[in-house]
Amino acid sequence: MGTEVSARLFDRARDVIPGGVNSPVRAFDSVGGVPRFIARGEGAELVDVDGNRYLDLVNSWGPLLFGHVPDEVRAAAVEAIGRGSSFGAPTEGEVELAEAIVEAVPSVQKVRLVSSGTEAGMSAIRLARGATGRDKLIKFVGHYHGHSDALLVAAGSGVATLGIPGSPGVTAGAAADTVLVPWNDRAAVAAVVAEHGGDLAAILCEPVAANMNLVAPEEGFLAFLREQADACGAVLVFDEVISGFRVARGGAQQLHGVTPDLTVLGKVVGGGFPLAAFGGRADLMDHLAPAGPVYQAGTLSGNPVAVAAGLAQLRLLDDDVYARLGRTTDRLVAGLRSAFEDSGVVAQVLQHATLAGVLFAGAPPRRYEDVAAADHDRYASFFHGMLERGVYLAPSGYEVLFTSTALGEAEIDRIVTAAAEVAAGLAEAG
Ligand SMILES: *Cc1c(COP(=O)(O)O)cnc(C)c1O
Repeated sequence: MGTEVSARLFDRARDVIPGGVNSPVRAFDSVGGVPRFIARGEGAELVDVDGNRYLDLVNSWGPLLFGHVPDEVRAAAVEAIGRGSSFGAPTEGEVELAEAIVEAVPSVQKVRLVSSGTEAGMSAIRLARGATGRDKLIKFVGHYHGHSDALLVAAGSGVATLGIPGSPGVTAGAAADTVLVPWNDRAAVAAVVAEHGGDLAAILCEPVAANMNLVAPEEGFLAFLREQADACGAVLVFDEVISGFRVARGGAQQLHGVTPDLTVLGKVVGGGFPLAAFGGRADLMDHLAPAGPVYQAGTLSGNPVAVAAGLAQLRLLDDDVYARLGRTTDRLVAGLRSAFEDSGVVAQVLQHATLAGVLFAGAPPRRYEDVAAADHDRYASFFHGMLERGVYLAPSGYEVLFTSTALGEAEIDRIVTAAAEVAAGLAEAG
């Protein structure tokens, strides 16, 4: 498998782009090696600039539920750009997309469109603070809500102390109101609510944690968060940037039957374009300018091409899609489990609805520390073995597997065969 063209591009990129990439994990730093520069995507596959083909289990980190370039999304985007790329004035498409989101996501009565999940998460927090007049928020260790200052605190970084910034450049002040709690830990949440309840603007979580590999909420944990938020008057915010339109059409809140006050959406909602959203209870959302005083704005918010693509993708989402994705994920998970069992390699193949993950650990994780303690060197070996066999996994053991409906049984079986070979090699290497 040649990688000369990728290697040359990466050299050029490093001269003009920090680390050679426009988002850190693309650089392969945690697994080593040369990142593949992608020439195009075709259905279930990525094709790199050296002509190598890979079955794609990243799917742009989640947006591409139907794989690459589904006809409906392509047609909608092309048609939209023919009418103009951006107007800075309202369009009919924005109304249609907002209506589609309100219809699909149980808790969302009103929604605002923005351009990235980071922007949506940051804005939802500002809204929660503006509406409650309070400053503090509960954030779970290892949950990722984009890279805004207040939320870049123990965001999968291993910093697990109260109020320590997760990056140079995040001020102690920006992090000071972010109170960190371990995921799935009721006593810790209750203790923070008891101590800071009157100052808590929001309890924020990924209802299915999917940026510290995959850690589902324990039975009743989301309902417990709902109770705790109600008890102290905090806004319950579900960051469904990954789980929204993926674990179910109505997201984790539909799957688990727990209703947040605000929901953050991204990834699938944009159909592969820069589009995200946050929405929720109408009375809360009406605190946003121009209806209310909490300021939030965007030159390209509700961009017509992104809106058309997102809407086209959302219109394809029916029960059959989730049944198919569920079967695909089941087949992948069962196959990977047997591959590891047969070879004697100790691994957890995690699954929650249509999300999956591979973690080289002896037991399923409950919280961030369990994921951090897994064998990430072994993941790097697994990743490269799979890549050499034409399977593109996330280049980090902290990520999940994103399936798409473009992956049929034959493709899943090819992935499983590759995994069995790689697992046998791992067992031999010891
Ligand atoms: C990806 C992600 C974000 C950030 O979205 P961007 O579009 O990358 O800014 C926020 N929250 C979660 C749960 C995510 O997975």
